[in-house]
Amino acid sequence: MNTLDELTSNFSRLPGIGRKSASRIVNWLLRQDRLYLQKFAQNLAVLQDKVKPCPICGAWTEEEYCLICSNNLRDRSLLCVVEEAQDVSTIEAYGDFKGLYHVLGGVLKPLEGIGPAQLSINQLVNRLKQGEIREVIIATNPTVEGDTTALYLNKVISESGLAQPVKVTRLATGMPVGGDLEYVDKRTLALSFSGRAEF
Ligand code: ZN
Repeated sequence: MNTLDELTSNFSRLPGIGRKSASRIVNWLLRQDRLYLQKFAQNLAVLQDKVKPCPICGAWTEEEYCLICSNNLRDRSLLCVVEEAQDVSTIEAYGDFKGLYHVLGGVLKPLEGIGPAQLSINQLVNRLKQGEIREVIIATNPTVEGDTTALYLNKVISESGLAQPVKVTRLATGMPVGGDLEYVDKRTLALSFSGRAEF
């Protein structure tokens, strides 16, 4: 395969990019500044070496711990549980949530072989056992899998024999059913936080 075809096929693998868009991107790149392309390629080459999941919460970081876990001004009694690392950026972008996060790494999908052991559920319980967290806000997407996972987490947390009481809440109404956190506007997300309900 020649470079042009190979690169087009590389881009067509990106989420949301079809063959036609991939071809348009490659043609656009060919007309760009050489330095821009070199920097782009360099960043891609080192991306997975530099950016790692935070060992505490699972959000992406280039430091030992992410900026949220290492920020002493964050409210350590509040923990927001999300499906993927990019959900942290979405919630952070709307700016009102001042607690900590926990990235599950997906949702329960038994048919695809994703059970509790494939998600960071044990790590979540261990964080709760440290005793600082008073409320867990489950912010999985409002899909069937997201809801099932939320119910499962509530059960696991309530049965984990924690020394301190931990309230478990779920993001509230306003979230489009079957939707994705990533596409929700700031106001809707803010409302779903303030209107969160206890299980
Ligand atoms: Zn972190």
